[in-house]
Amino acid sequence: MSSVWTQLEPHLAGVEKPARYIGLELGAQRPAVAEGAVSWLLTYPDTYEIGLPNQGLQILYEILNERDDACAERTYAPWSDLEAVMRREGIPLFSVDTHRPAHEFDVLAFNLSAELTYTNVLNCVDLAGVPVRATDRRPEHPLVAAGGHCTYNPEPLADFLDFVVLGDGEEVVAEVTEVIRDWKASGRTEGSREGVLRALAQVPGVYVPSLYEVTYGVDGAVAAVTPRHPDVPERVEKRTIADLAEWPYPRRQLVPLTEVVHDRLNVEVFRGCTRGCRFCQAGMITRPVRERPAEQVRTMVTEGLRRTGYDEVALTSLSTADFSGIEEVVEGIVDDPAACGQVSVSLPSLRVDAFTVGIATQIQKARRTGLTFAPEAGTWRMRQVINKLIREDDLYGAVEAAFGAGWRRVKLYFLTGLPSETDEDTLGILELARNCVELGRRHTKHVSVKASVGGFVPKPFTPFQWFGQNTLEELERKIGLLREGARKVKGLQLTWHDPKASLVEGLLSRGDRRLGPVIEQVWREGGTFQEWSEHFSLDLWLRAMADHGLDVDWYVHRHRPEDEVLPWDHLSAGLHRDFLWQDWQDALAEVGLPDCRWTPCYDCGACTGYGIEHVVASTTPPAGGSQGTGQDLSTADRVTSVPVVLRSSDLTGARR
Ligand code: SF4
Repeated sequence: MSSVWTQLEPHLAGVEKPARYIGLELGAQRPAVAEGAVSWLLTYPDTYEIGLPNQGLQILYEILNERDDACAERTYAPWSDLEAVMRREGIPLFSVDTHRPAHEFDVLAFNLSAELTYTNVLNCVDLAGVPVRATDRRPEHPLVAAGGHCTYNPEPLADFLDFVVLGDGEEVVAEVTEVIRDWKASGRTEGSREGVLRALAQVPGVYVPSLYEVTYGVDGAVAAVTPRHPDVPERVEKRTIADLAEWPYPRRQLVPLTEVVHDRLNVEVFRGCTRGCRFCQAGMITRPVRERPAEQVRTMVTEGLRRTGYDEVALTSLSTADFSGIEEVVEGIVDDPAACGQVSVSLPSLRVDAFTVGIATQIQKARRTGLTFAPEAGTWRMRQVINKLIREDDLYGAVEAAFGAGWRRVKLYFLTGLPSETDEDTLGILELARNCVELGRRHTKHVSVKASVGGFVPKPFTPFQWFGQNTLEELERKIGLLREGARKVKGLQLTWHDPKASLVEGLLSRGDRRLGPVIEQVWREGGTFQEWSEHFSLDLWLRAMADHGLDVDWYVHRHRPEDEVLPWDHLSAGLHRDFLWQDWQDALAEVGLPDCRWTPCYDCGACTGYGIEHVVASTTPPAGGSQGTGQDLSTADRVTSVPVVLRSSDLTGARR
């Protein structure tokens, strides 16, 4: 096992933030590579600051290093200053743990959380000294893999990835490891790469793009995606772990040596979300809801704080205030005598209601810096379309409670460019924000309301996957309307996401394999770190699309008909396609859909397809009025008990 450290070290003083590259964090591992063991290089294709806190990567890092037949190290995309040094000096991509060259690993496994990192994936593969195209790789090269939310449509990266894992990674990494271990034991002989990929395709949840033939119709849309061999599944189902309690990871969260985002202890309290926000891919693809037992949350918090020395813990999920018994859990942390009253708790995803503010008041006694709410749209009509059923009273109640409890800053998240959005809806954002400023003025002279507006990008496996994204001009016009109006409101600050970046994100999120050469050209022309405004270049993307005879408008702004084969239709997030279509029709009819945790199941497919039901820690719906959903939970429709049944044997049976 070699190391590039002696080559690298003399250059670190000359690059920005050298701590990005040295490893040695609390929680870092320097695993020995046992004979025959499968070595994984877990790679986040963005900077260390963004990638280090990624929980998915940290979970797999620990699980793999606990196995006798595997070891795992980490790497992150080197910033452009170090990349220039590496290319000049011939230093390959390396792990931050032992500085072992990336090409010595058996698997380069990427976490794909954002489309704009795709060119960084190619750059990392190239820096590793591995051919960027899968077809050019030989048995001695690592397998290039990906997991994470973007893999629900990995087609734009199909030319570059050897295999892709859909869904929860905790169990499937073991099965993948075993297949690769056997391949290594057989000597990785000439021509054996196809064989290991065929074997990986047999693992439930693993998709091997090269084993599928894609044909296109005269209309330009995908006509069919067909397995090239009879033993390759026609459809790849995502993996779902049934019981989060069996996976109390990370146990040894990494504590960075330099500043990173989310620099605190993070404890995942549940996975999945059934609120049914129609724009939210994470909510759809991670169903069903699986709660961690409250007692385990408490233990993970206590142990984690003790081990890391952090004085802040985030209870993470897609909607943490919905966690059963959240008040008691929070109380237990804040009042723990071992913490001496010094620990603060953050709930990164606040629900919009006064109940949530009550919890926030309880936990942020010392640091009342700011509270964030996400009403997402400016009018009730629009919120019915997107199924974010927050009434204005919910929002105003929450904001009033926040200012009344001493907060001075409130941040509101909105989307523009949503299906059927009119100017009245767009301007409704201003109206809500302005009213929040007024509410704040009743409590403080120094009110600050920040409205952050993002351009909506439709994502696969959501009801909006058929919607034609707003054009760049339309998004810019809408943001212009908001900017003009916001100027007149003292105390209101407006920020917005660059619509040009939304355009490229839209292109990649619903693109097909024909975008592979486009991504490659953008990368070859220097288009890395496209997530970063100082590096992003729309011109590079438009030129590459034109050079390959592809039409941006067709890919991004076109509404798809129901019968069109979507590039990801041969993959499955567990959701029935007809459920998603019906939900899309309901959206257009402005009909909301309640949270199925507290109302009868409407069979979206997420639980039924896997033979499991929601797993919650308590059968009692969380307290707090409408829960910010607009639902009247006192109606007869409401179920009085929530299913807490777990049939993991059914789960195993269903997916095999
Ligand atoms: S299958 Fe039913 S209970 Fe499960 S997430 Fe879908 S609607 Fe909810």
